[in-house]
Amino acid sequence: MYTITTRSESETLFLGKMLGGMLKPGDLVTLNGDLGAGKTCLARGVGSGLDVAGRVKSPSFALVNEYEGRIPLYHMDVYRLDNPAEIEDLGYEEYFYGTGATLVEWAERISSYLPEQRLDIMISKVPNDEDTRKITLSPRGERYEKMARELVENVCSGN
Ligand code: ADP
Ligand code: MG
Repeated sequence: MYTITTRSESETLFLGKMLGGMLKPGDLVTLNGDLGAGKTCLARGVGSGLDVAGRVKSPSFALVNEYEGRIPLYHMDVYRLDNPAEIEDLGYEEYFYGTGATLVEWAERISSYLPEQRLDIMISKVPNDEDTRKITLSPRGERYEKMARELVENVCSGN
């Protein structure tokens, strides 16, 4: 487990951008944390790191937004699912095991559908500090372990 502290929205965007630069087809990153933690902010950075044209927006109502970048980016938010099995209707396998990289906000709601190898990210607010976020990276699998280590090196040296 790795922890990165960001002190502004732009630092979280930068972390996302670094992450986006590393993603390959079939990669999965989960984004967890309360409303307003910064999940969509991080996703927006990932979009920029993947050279997505335009702004990555919260997919809350769409459940999934697809973007064209260096590789496709699939951005899901499963907050509004009543039942985890509903993601079967969404055709989740084509996202998780497809030609793009997938980000899932509120992924704990569909935990039984998640591939074992992935990067879990938790974003937490810090009491009495509006602009600081504690971001925990929990890599599952060797590839994501390397990715997390590299992110910590890149982002912390940039601070
Ligand atoms: P979520 O998708 O987790 O609900 P959003 O990314 O939509 O959250 O919103 C995060 C909010 O927190 C934004 O208004 C952003 O400006 C603010 N914010 C303040 N500090 C930070 C930070 N360090 N990282 C990310 N967002 C931050
Ligand atoms: Mg969001």
